[in-house]
Amino acid sequence: MLKPSSSLESRICTLYERHGITRPCDISLRVFDHVMPVRVIYRPGSAVSMINNGECLAFVDGRLPLPERRVVIAHEIGHLLLHAGIQTWLPCNARSKQEWQANRFAGYALAPSWMIAGVAQGHECLGSLTTSLADTFGVTQAFMESRLTLYREDYRETGIASRVV
Ligand SMILES: [Zn+2]
Repeated sequence: MLKPSSSLESRICTLYERHGITRPCDISLRVFDHVMPVRVIYRPGSAVSMINNGECLAFVDGRLPLPERRVVIAHEIGHLLLHAGIQTWLPCNARSKQEWQANRFAGYALAPSWMIAGVAQGHECLGSLTTSLADTFGVTQAFMESRLTLYREDYRETGIASRVV
């Protein structure tokens, strides 16, 4: 199995192993309830997450198509697990960093590197690979495009990425 790309992905890997998540179809974001239970509340509008009286809440637009909803929920879980406080009080650069971290969390949670490596082997064409991976992992095409960019960056030094995607 491909080694996790970062300490964050390594923690996700341990959690997934502990709960028998070995294939893309096994991935359920509910597994993060074992770390910190999150109540997802569907309501129209932009997504936001907060801790209210000790309860982690993620407000998500339930009208979004499932792949987009999964990406948004994963991003909000990332904020809840990694960040504290009220983001609107942060300076702009700190806010951007939190957004980057939440996106990275969503990338690793919804499409772990070792699963990408397993699924991507043997594919020649990057265009069809992105579509096929988005479908396999149940995420949007745009999300998978940036996920593959992160994958290439994470494994650039090793040369693994260029052999796979
Ligand atoms: Zn965010």
